Amino acid sequence: MREIYLDYNASTPIDPRVLEVIVSALGEVGNASSAHAFGKRQADAVELAREKVAALVGSRRGDVVFTAGATEANNLVLRGVAEGAPAGRRRVLISAVEHASIREVADWLSDEGVVKVELIPVTSGGYVNLEALDSLLAEDVLLVSVMAANSETGVVNPIREVAERARAVGALVHSDATQALGRIDFSVSDETLDFASLSGHKIYGPGGIGALIGTRHARQTLRPIIFGGGQERGLRSGSLNVAGAVGLGEAARLAADQRSVDAEHMARLRSRLETALTSRLPQVEGNGSSHRLPNTVNLRFAGADAAAVLANMHPVAASAGSACSSGTVGPSPVLLAMGRSRQAASESIRFSVGRFSTKDEIDHAADVIVTAVQYVRTMSQP
Ligand code: PMP
Repeated sequence: MREIYLDYNASTPIDPRVLEVIVSALGEVGNASSAHAFGKRQADAVELAREKVAALVGSRRGDVVFTAGATEANNLVLRGVAEGAPAGRRRVLISAVEHASIREVADWLSDEGVVKVELIPVTSGGYVNLEALDSLLAEDVLLVSVMAANSETGVVNPIREVAERARAVGALVHSDATQALGRIDFSVSDETLDFASLSGHKIYGPGGIGALIGTRHARQTLRPIIFGGGQERGLRSGSLNVAGAVGLGEAARLAADQRSVDAEHMARLRSRLETALTSRLPQVEGNGSSHRLPNTVNLRFAGADAAAVLANMHPVAASAGSACSSGTVGPSPVLLAMGRSRQAASESIRFSVGRFSTKDEIDHAADVIVTAVQYVRTMSQP
């Protein structure tokens, strides 16, 4: 039976058009920092890619700092800002449902006593609670980091409102836009953000490449976390991953071009799946508000352990919790932060569709998932 991939939020398949430009870039020689013609050609290719990434996120070309992915971009912004913090601004606010690459570096900075980190709670719908944010904000807040959309629930945050509030007290604002890009409108300038993070393998580009977007003023507050030859204007030393950057650039161009077509396609298939599962199975409950990414649905199947359902769902791939922490056992911290019980969280599965998903796949997947949930429910009865 053909495998069916419903885990686009974990990683997207590479678009064949992106693959083509990567393969061609890999055939070129030269270090982008070298002054000779070989190096210059590599540097030009990187600058063109930078321009395409900037166009996707509504920033300037010079605001794009290439990194080895969103994890590094998130580490760079949190550590980079915190370690250069002026006296009197030592509090950092992050939402309670951030990705591990924000949460873990924030915990580390807090443990080291570099800054004090506080969590902004989320509502039961999974988006950041603006009233709670208001009560945390003060003139001593250095940075506010709230993801644009959550990887596990797809819930979209009111980023502009967050940014306005943070700016009013003079704090810097960062948003991890890894899951939002190519799926919903997102613009660093429209949302008035100082920083944003993104990743290649969530927009049909290669893994191991991403970027931190930072306005000129905001970049000046950053300390690098990787030292060396001073590439990326000193913020990210290391010979550039030219083929990766070129691939990310092409993926960004396609994401911008196809966003509305992709979004419509994904929304149609996502609804088809959601309707099939909720109409054919009793006791299915959605996690997260309706203001979600068009490709994501997170469902709780009461009485069916998610790990057991996933193990019985072959050939359909989906996930419980985020892929990056799925090696660890235990219910999703995101769902717990939304007030779900441990049991509800351990019975929840995320399905995420994408550009290459088809109606036939969804129909077949729905049959497989329904059978798996019924089987696990039957087996779990005392
Ligand atoms: N942030 C979010 C919201 C993500 O979903 C992910 C990937 N799961 C990351 C950051 C990390 O991205 P990367 O794999 O490029 O390090």
